[in-house]
Amino acid sequence: MQRGGPVEGTPAEGAVFLTALTAGPIARVDIARETGLSSAAVTRVAKLLIDEGYLEYAPDQPQSTNGDETRMGRPSSPLRVHARQTGSFGIIVRRDELIGMVCDLAGAPRVSERRPLVDNSVDAAVAAIAAFHRELVARAEEVGFVVAPHDLGLSLSGDIDHDTGYVRYSPFLGWRDVDLGTAVSNAVGAPVVVENDVKALTVAEQWFGLGRGITNFAVVTIGTGIGCAIVVDGGLVRGAHSVAGEIGHLPLGDPAVHCHCGGHGCVEAEASTTALLERCRAVTGLDDLTIETAVELARSGDEAVRAIFARAGRLIGLALASVANLLGPERVIVAGEGVSSYDLFETAIREAFAEQAFGAAHQVPIHVRDLPFEEWARGAAAVAIQELVFPSRQRVTADVRRRPGVRRV
Ligand SMILES: [Zn+2]
Repeated sequence: MQRGGPVEGTPAEGAVFLTALTAGPIARVDIARETGLSSAAVTRVAKLLIDEGYLEYAPDQPQSTNGDETRMGRPSSPLRVHARQTGSFGIIVRRDELIGMVCDLAGAPRVSERRPLVDNSVDAAVAAIAAFHRELVARAEEVGFVVAPHDLGLSLSGDIDHDTGYVRYSPFLGWRDVDLGTAVSNAVGAPVVVENDVKALTVAEQWFGLGRGITNFAVVTIGTGIGCAIVVDGGLVRGAHSVAGEIGHLPLGDPAVHCHCGGHGCVEAEASTTALLERCRAVTGLDDLTIETAVELARSGDEAVRAIFARAGRLIGLALASVANLLGPERVIVAGEGVSSYDLFETAIREAFAEQAFGAAHQVPIHVRDLPFEEWARGAAAVAIQELVFPSRQRVTADVRRRPGVRRV
């Protein structure tokens, strides 16, 4: 659904929509309390959003039969996002695979698919994304969406400029300075928003996962890369260049170790899956060792391999303590494919965290989440919904800079 007509994407509209999305079904009186808007403002905005198909009353709720209340319901009648409306597509671009999701406007997953990414050169990847998008459109129609899905959220790892849709650097795809937003938007003929994959996952956690209802939290991902995204006072922190949260490049490790980013001593240079595997191969002398076999060796008691995982765990724990000390989050969520071998990191993570967390930061709970990549794709779809209806602080200036075909927050 394209924003149009009288819905302008004002902060009040965004606040009412997001409250209905994350806390609905919710009565207008409660939306007013949650958002700090007046009852009159909530009623006016809710009427607009209902008329435009964004919100609806939850079924089986008694409705008044008097005057205006026939259409608007009582202030206590619970509202929710109109789930029959198609929300958006989300696609996460991995080194060798595309994972796609079609969500309804409430962000609920309705279709998910995976496709191999055989050639991850930029042109081939853009063509593959466009072909996958066409398949997802067909699937959305099959499941009965009456309004064609429109916005596409793309997520991928690396230094991504959310404002411009540029990929400055994605080490796992080997991309530098790629205008991905424009290229994909031209290929699919729809607005595209591009986001760092961990930040997109964090939006999904904020709306639907362990971040729901809390205003300060961090998501840390371990695996191919070490990523982090942070929510402060209810807002995802992107920073001036969308680069905030890169704890994988905190120099907490051995300064003699060179990182692919050009720095030295980065957490990622010792704790990523790639770094772990390299070290495990060196100590075992097995050049064809896989990460799965390395995990098995560690679990079966190979001390040298266990020590490599423990070293990685220590650096991750120090990075988590840095996040806790800097931001004081209510919780830290650890996710990513590395979570499947969390048992090998856990003791070292907890010891390093306890050693370095300052004062009350010790109390920050660490939650481990084994989230499939479909949930990451849902995050990409959530970012597109956010772009569609929830105005960000940057929208006003971004509108001035917007080029045809690409929508940016
Ligand atoms: Zn680095």
